[in-house]
Amino acid sequence: MTTLTLVRSEPAPPLMDQVRDIAGSDILPIVGEIDRDGVYPEAAMRKLGRAGAFAQHVSWGGPSTDSGTGVGAAIDAMSAVGEVCLSTAFCMWCQDALAWYIACSDNDGLKRKLLPEVSTGTVLGGTGLSNPMKRFCDIEPLRLKGTRVAGGYRVKGVLPWVSNLGPDHHFGGVFELNDKPGHFVMAIIPCASEGLTLGSNTQFVALDGTRTFSVQMRDVFISDDLVVADPIDGYLKRIRPGFVLLQSGMAFGLIEGAIALMEQAKTTLHHVNKYLPEQPEQFREKLAAMRAKVAKLSETPFDTSTAFWREVLETRLIAGDATVAAAHAAMLHQGARGYVSTGAAQRRLREAYFVAIVTPATKQLRKMLADIDCASSCGGH
Ligand SMILES: Cc1cc2nc3c(=O)[nH]c(=O)nc-3n(C[C@H](O)[C@H](O)[C@H](O)COP(=O)(O)OP(=O)(O)OC[C@H]3O[C@@H](n4cnc5c(N)ncnc54)[C@H](O)[C@@H]3O)c2cc1C
Repeated sequence: MTTLTLVRSEPAPPLMDQVRDIAGSDILPIVGEIDRDGVYPEAAMRKLGRAGAFAQHVSWGGPSTDSGTGVGAAIDAMSAVGEVCLSTAFCMWCQDALAWYIACSDNDGLKRKLLPEVSTGTVLGGTGLSNPMKRFCDIEPLRLKGTRVAGGYRVKGVLPWVSNLGPDHHFGGVFELNDKPGHFVMAIIPCASEGLTLGSNTQFVALDGTRTFSVQMRDVFISDDLVVADPIDGYLKRIRPGFVLLQSGMAFGLIEGAIALMEQAKTTLHHVNKYLPEQPEQFREKLAAMRAKVAKLSETPFDTSTAFWREVLETRLIAGDATVAAAHAAMLHQGARGYVSTGAAQRRLREAYFVAIVTPATKQLRKMLADIDCASSCGGH
């Protein structure tokens, strides 16, 4: 008589447990190599994708539904990784942004084929939207220009920095039409496109493990199948709150990590650290308030009102300032042990400045807030 054994597959552990495991076992051990040697945490990114870390904010019904969006869950996953390593957390944001662009579009082909691959980390990639974000804030001209041809566009130009890239990766990019100035098109651009080259000649003080390249495009053909918005106007208003809110994951993770360093220093240095003006308890309180605010805003990322956008920008500004302040305080609490080249505090401080300079940078946020205030008080003049 043969006996039949039924093998039940265990349910996967909750996402946050898996993300914390990956952070502890796949990222923490190589955090020095990522920081010093620019090692790209590709295996960890793939694992995070398989766990579902990049799918939370895109597995709902689309921007036309009101069923909540999972943006908060994506932020929590990024934050858990950011506690350990900002390079990996930023790669997660790049990946999340790419998935967000596709999910928020009306391009059913990309949603059917590329979105499942991006949201599971099978295909990796990022976003080249710093330049357009600055263009739409009157800070700099748009760097990619396109010409309409049969079946798509020919695109030319250079983006100085795009992260989480590789020969088979993709990124979201925006180009302006040569014959229609002020008409902007957004598309998902494969790095493998003919005429596209990735250049790497910059060494950063941190975030060097993010595979950040300059992207040169020489008459690259972008087919209509890759377009997510043409023209970009209404679509941009829909994607931008999510784009900015998701960055909170980097800020929250880094602040958590800085608090942990302050707490750690307490065990031997409390008798003197207690004289420092900023204590971990204050940062914990501030962080809890920021988390609550971002969780609330993340419930309605498709609110296109100016009042909502203003709140998102203000919250992002506060998060960037708090990140730098927390990393600075961690350095003071850790003292000399944070100042050695392998010390975590000096790495966290270098990483923290990235949150304040990545688009929208602190200065851009202040300009955007000033522009909104001016438009409401001066009637737009
Ligand atoms: C590690 C890293 C990763 C990044 N990843 C991405 C990404 O994935 N996608 C993306 O769109 N953007 C990326 N950026 C760009 C980033 O988002 C900001 O746009 C950038 O940090 C500058 O922002 P800023 O507002 O402070 O502008 P500023 O630094 O004040 O001015 C920016 C402009 O000044 C010029 N400039 C200044 N310094 C230099 C320099 N050393 N070399 C060349 N040009 C210079 C360039 O025209 C640039 O556009 C990355 C930047 C860094 C440092």
